[in-house]
Amino acid sequence: MVCAISLALYNYFKLNLTFKEQEIDTLNKIGQILKELYTQGDIYREEIKKNDLKKEIFEDRKFFTLIHGDFSGIQRFIHLISSKYAMKTLKGRSFFFGVLTENFAKYIVDQLELTQANIIFAGGGHFYIIAHYSDDLKLQLSEISIKINKLFIEQFNSNLYLALDYIPLSLKDLVYNVSEKWEEVNKKTSIKKREKFSDIIKREKDAYFPKIFGPIEGSAKKLQRCSICNSFGTLEIMPDSDEYWCIMCKSFKELTDDLRFSKFYRDIQFDSVKSYNTILNEFEKAISLEENVETNQKEWYSINNLSLKNCLGDKQFPIAFPLNEFSFIKSNEELATQAYQRTGFNKLGILKMDVDSLGKVFQKGLGKNSTISRVSTLSSSLTLFFEGYVPKLIQSEFSDSVYLIFSGGDDLFAVGSWDKLIDFSFRLYRDFRRFTAFNPDISLSAGIVLESPNFPIIKASLSAETELDRAKHFEKFTGNINTKNKISLFGFVIKWDWN
Ligand SMILES: [Zn+2]
Repeated sequence: MVCAISLALYNYFKLNLTFKEQEIDTLNKIGQILKELYTQGDIYREEIKKNDLKKEIFEDRKFFTLIHGDFSGIQRFIHLISSKYAMKTLKGRSFFFGVLTENFAKYIVDQLELTQANIIFAGGGHFYIIAHYSDDLKLQLSEISIKINKLFIEQFNSNLYLALDYIPLSLKDLVYNVSEKWEEVNKKTSIKKREKFSDIIKREKDAYFPKIFGPIEGSAKKLQRCSICNSFGTLEIMPDSDEYWCIMCKSFKELTDDLRFSKFYRDIQFDSVKSYNTILNEFEKAISLEENVETNQKEWYSINNLSLKNCLGDKQFPIAFPLNEFSFIKSNEELATQAYQRTGFNKLGILKMDVDSLGKVFQKGLGKNSTISRVSTLSSSLTLFFEGYVPKLIQSEFSDSVYLIFSGGDDLFAVGSWDKLIDFSFRLYRDFRRFTAFNPDISLSAGIVLESPNFPIIKASLSAETELDRAKHFEKFTGNINTKNKISLFGFVIKWDWN
């Protein structure tokens, strides 16, 4: 965190001050203020208020900015797809979405001449960056956002959108007000999400309006669309099926297949082989996955495997598949059959789960000193649970029956044999309560639905979402007591500790 703040300050002075003496003087004052605040606390805050120069440096001068990137359309991108072969691409899509989130954050810090330390958090469809303040920042971010969103229009049929915005921060904001500022920048990005692609339309209406809203040229001749993502473009018929898939969806299926056995991961600068990398190539980035690495292991991250000591480090990815005897991901039919053999009931379970009132946890849960490090530690701890612990739990105890499609930020989506999926949800709830030291204000809610194995996953996912919503709003909120913290199961909303 110190590195991120120092670098942001360095860039601020580089862009905003002409005289070196002025910079040294200001830096000395900042150092003195922070030291005294650390040793004297609130008493020194009163002193700052009485001194005009200190007040100006501490409260008024905006040295920093908090940048927020917020994706919309994640559900549509990852799993709201209607093909009967949807399951074959889901994990690849959700994995790639995580990779995109991280790489776009890295691209922005590269462009702003900052480091990865400036990325405070990236996961679950968001990223936050601490940067310097400059007059050009608005334009720089606008250009980046247009570049990314044009790509989403072209490659993902306008399904994904990145809202990118920032707010200026003073030293005081960094030390005392981060929760408030976090919320403020969230509001700015949510306004952008309501008018998505408007910046592109304003600038290049003729080229992009038809791509987003139609009509597509030639549609009268009944153009063929991709069975998975509905896009036009180059399509290929899939072997053993009657469906046409676009190159990108085919590539997500290959990525899903690769993820079954990949043990090593690294960032590279260019790759023309994997179609999904062509998207990252636009930002001078790409990824590489390998099952075995014989030499130079130090250049690779291990994937969810802390025992590989020679690597650069370990990357936690939310990957957990139930594989059959032929090492293929089990189909919905196989998962339902397993449940049938145990229970006599041939159904697939679909689970949606997320943390209750997370906004309030961030706003009020950190007390009056919501420093940047406290906020980022809270975010990272939740990520550790959803991206690190959840796949670990499935791999160790539910590996034959639960398919983790998405887990990150503060929520989760999984399918599996219905009986085991229920066990998994209760186990996960119990472990989350332990992880949060049984704090009554940090809880989880869940919605589970049971469907026939050939029921479209797109509809099952929406039903599970509705049940999750019912669980959260079953009890009317009347005060400060947590009224969420429930699961909807078999159409009934119950408390987790009902027995
Ligand atoms: Zn497609």
